Amino acid sequence: MKHFPIFLAVAGRRIVLSGGGDAAMAKLRLLMKTEAHLTVIAAEVADDIRKWEAAGKLRVIPRAMAPGDALCAALFYAANEDNAEDARVSAIAHAEGALVNIVDNLADSQFITPAIVDRDPVTVAIGTEGAAPVLARAIKADLEERLPTSLGVLARIGKTFRHAVDVLPMGRKRRDFWSSFYFGAGPKAFAQHGATGVIPALETLLDERITARQTTGHVDLVGAGPGDPELLTLKARKALDKADVVIHDRLVTGDILELARREAIIIDAGKQGFGPAMQQSDIDALIVQHALDGHHVVRLKAGDPTVFGRLDEELAALDAHGIPYTIVPGITAASAAVAGIGQSLTQRGRNSSVRLITGHDTKGYADHDWTALARKGEVAAIYMGKKSARFIQGRLLMHGADPATPVTIVENVSRADQQIIATTLAELEPTLTQAKLQGPALTFYGLAPRAAQITAQSLKEFA
Ligand code: SAH
Repeated sequence: MKHFPIFLAVAGRRIVLSGGGDAAMAKLRLLMKTEAHLTVIAAEVADDIRKWEAAGKLRVIPRAMAPGDALCAALFYAANEDNAEDARVSAIAHAEGALVNIVDNLADSQFITPAIVDRDPVTVAIGTEGAAPVLARAIKADLEERLPTSLGVLARIGKTFRHAVDVLPMGRKRRDFWSSFYFGAGPKAFAQHGATGVIPALETLLDERITARQTTGHVDLVGAGPGDPELLTLKARKALDKADVVIHDRLVTGDILELARREAIIIDAGKQGFGPAMQQSDIDALIVQHALDGHHVVRLKAGDPTVFGRLDEELAALDAHGIPYTIVPGITAASAAVAGIGQSLTQRGRNSSVRLITGHDTKGYADHDWTALARKGEVAAIYMGKKSARFIQGRLLMHGADPATPVTIVENVSRADQQIIATTLAELEPTLTQAKLQGPALTFYGLAPRAAQITAQSLKEFA
């Protein structure tokens, strides 16, 4: 982030703008929404600016800017649409202590003006650091459509009612009250009776909440997918939006945690591969405790919670305490990894079944039906297979698997640093040792990346 977004207190402060044409007017339209004192300095100004002056919205100094004009200004805009003049006036303003913005000159500006969605006092500022104004406009249009125009009025009336809501216990109950107001009772009352209907709606809602029974918590066991936030399900997004507490795995990425409700408590329950950082029983207890406190808990697990996720232990703990839960499936690493190498998990004529196997379980290296796996055409997705690669390779070869069987390792599936390594069963262990993988990796036994396969095929055809 090269620009840090903040909301600056400008009520009663000076904002000075140099320029009187179209660029000046565009900025003034935004600035006139504030309670700042606006001064426009320009030898010539457009008719609209004159009208605004007549209406008392700003003051015009009808001459070119001179030293002293930006004294005590919080912000200064150079909007002359003339590089030399903008540079001259900016130097003056800068020397006089104002923060300077030069219209259409990102490099020389100390701050930039975001695209704004105005539902005063609710204001959304959108910035792209000048990289993609089109994108900012599209986001703005989208938000304009989604945020009811009554939102500002509701927020203003809601603010006057805040102290009354103090009768509700802090935390979840109060938050639920406000979210029911802003997204339910409030807009409805406003649509039916206008602003006068809003206070009675608030009173009714508060009465209901005061007499409501204590709510019990709820747990969503949510699949976070392999890492790319766009591979989250809508249900996962909604669960994160509502979460009071998020308890997540080591493999859940920061990008995804960012999507949790801002007030949510985020707890890292990461367990390191072999050495436990937090015991499963501690995690179970943690989930139960937060749910019993009446919270909406999101247990966020990498991939799909039903695949090597120790889901059943957590469900048993919840059942034991009668805590209601919902399982939200996610995209497991194997599905996302085959998508990354352009292959199917099953293929007519090649393999009609696929195994999801783990390299190790809680007791150490995991044993499997090696004889079956060693047969031609078998495909297996090996989870947690980094440390156990030598063991798996040895077992398969011992049971007669072809050393030339393709093996593909996909590290950091779906993330920006995804890496695909194609090898063979014979070379698996040395390849892994050499690759020194840092991130999570999934090993496909019996699958080569599609591109590699095509190249091999065409080489054969040419031979
Ligand atoms: N529930 C998860 C699996 C948890 S077990 C799922 O459905 O994907 C942890 C193992 O999953 C890791 O050791 C690794 O083998 C695999 N894994 C999880 N996320 C991964 C990712 N983004 N890239 C590669 N492998 C991943």
